[in-house]
Amino acid sequence: MEKEKYITRAEECMFHVYNRFPVVFDHGEGVYLYDTDGKKYLDFGSGIGVMALGYGNKAYQDALKEQVDKLTHTSNLYYHLPMIEAAEKMTKLSGMDKIFFTNSGAEAIEGAIKVAKKYAFKRDGHAGHEIIAMQHSFHGRTVGALSATGTDHYREPFYPLMGGVKFANFNDLKSVEDAMDEKTCAILMEPIQGEGGIYPADASFIEGVRKLCDQHDILLIFDEIQCGMGRSGRLFAYQKYGVKPDILTSAKALGCGVPVGAFLVTNRVAENSLEPGDHGTTYGGNPLVCAAVSKVCDLMEEMKLPEHVEKTTAYLEKSLDELTERYDFVLGHRGMGFMQGLLLDTKLPVGQVVSKGLEHGLVVLSAGGNVLRLLPPLVVGEEEIDLMKTTLEEIFDAIEV
Ligand SMILES: *Cc1c(COP(=O)(O)O)cnc(C)c1O
Repeated sequence: MEKEKYITRAEECMFHVYNRFPVVFDHGEGVYLYDTDGKKYLDFGSGIGVMALGYGNKAYQDALKEQVDKLTHTSNLYYHLPMIEAAEKMTKLSGMDKIFFTNSGAEAIEGAIKVAKKYAFKRDGHAGHEIIAMQHSFHGRTVGALSATGTDHYREPFYPLMGGVKFANFNDLKSVEDAMDEKTCAILMEPIQGEGGIYPADASFIEGVRKLCDQHDILLIFDEIQCGMGRSGRLFAYQKYGVKPDILTSAKALGCGVPVGAFLVTNRVAENSLEPGDHGTTYGGNPLVCAAVSKVCDLMEEMKLPEHVEKTTAYLEKSLDELTERYDFVLGHRGMGFMQGLLLDTKLPVGQVVSKGLEHGLVVLSAGGNVLRLLPPLVVGEEEIDLMKTTLEEIFDAIEV
């Protein structure tokens, strides 16, 4: 058992900013992870929704290897082909017009906020605009993204944060309307809230927010960093709702394992906001990550992953129904596609189930409000869903509540 030694070494020198689970992963294959002791885990977490293709996809790995040997970085002072191809594919697939590549989700949110502020600045001839974000939202840990994250305990130690953010209640159009005034330049929301507890937006809410934005020339920003890239059953959840944002953020599964994010905008926004000199990043969209994005776009289409998710969701939901029926402490489930939350009674802390999962060789996640969060790779099928369910049953049968 080398594991304990590895963990001791890590804790000697890594800043203790995470309470990590005592697992040292070594490699992955398909939808399974293996730790350094050779133990196998069914992965229903995907590294927090990143590994949409699962592990070891040959076409993806070959594309990266080829790019490593060719060129990994140029800076954004020049053009390169992987960026051009990734940008063409992403704008086509997303239905948006222009893209800017970032290194993370939080950085995509930072960019989206700057776009909205600059748009309003150009329109009104002055700064001082505000954005509306949602309670229980999560947009990232950098100061701007944190300022728009609707969970107090993430924010409080870091006050004062970026000002000019108001919070409205998710799925409550009236509260959005009440928060709006002449300073509002953008409404920022996740179509399906992730970290906050897997809350899908109501169609009427999303439609209502779009209408408010149109009436007042306010930009609608959809954060699809977690729910995007096929997880909802469409490439982007907005396509499912039929309500298009002005700014769309992506990350997590965008690169399926390389650090990349993006914000995408419509032509109207692109032509009336950021200009050369307003924004930048050294790494963002380098040849290596863009080769990944480009291949991920191809594979999403070739493997018909959104369609697979759409088809398989009913089976996943049925197994969650069965768990809900069988156990008193499972209160229900909610979600969309392969982004599902199993709601647990507070008597059974979700962290305990996540730990037990690892003991039983199942990787699952938690989310706010005592929710067991399932974000499997998009390639899982009925067989793996069955295994996830029977493993949870073993855990639930043995647990004293
Ligand atoms: C993970 C996440 C982010 C932040 O992304 P990072 O890459 O961790 O910075 C932002 N928004 C949503 C919805 C997320 O799930």
